[in-house]
Amino acid sequence: MPASRAAGASGRGLVLVHELCHLRASRHGAAFRRQLRLVLPDADARETAFAAAEPELWRGAVR
Ligand SMILES: [Zn+2]
Repeated sequence: MPASRAAGASGRGLVLVHELCHLRASRHGAAFRRQLRLVLPDADARETAFAAAEPELWRGAVR
């Protein structure tokens, strides 16, 4: 799989998990980050890759 497609697939997974984590934590605080990293230990790296691959969709860091 080309790197750009891999980044897109990784980004879609990130967005899905991000939104599902909002079922447990409505804001992007510490509880949200813990939940996100519990499901996706590489969430920070995925966010960085997503921001680079999809800058028009990226709304900024939620950390
Ligand atoms: Zn959010």
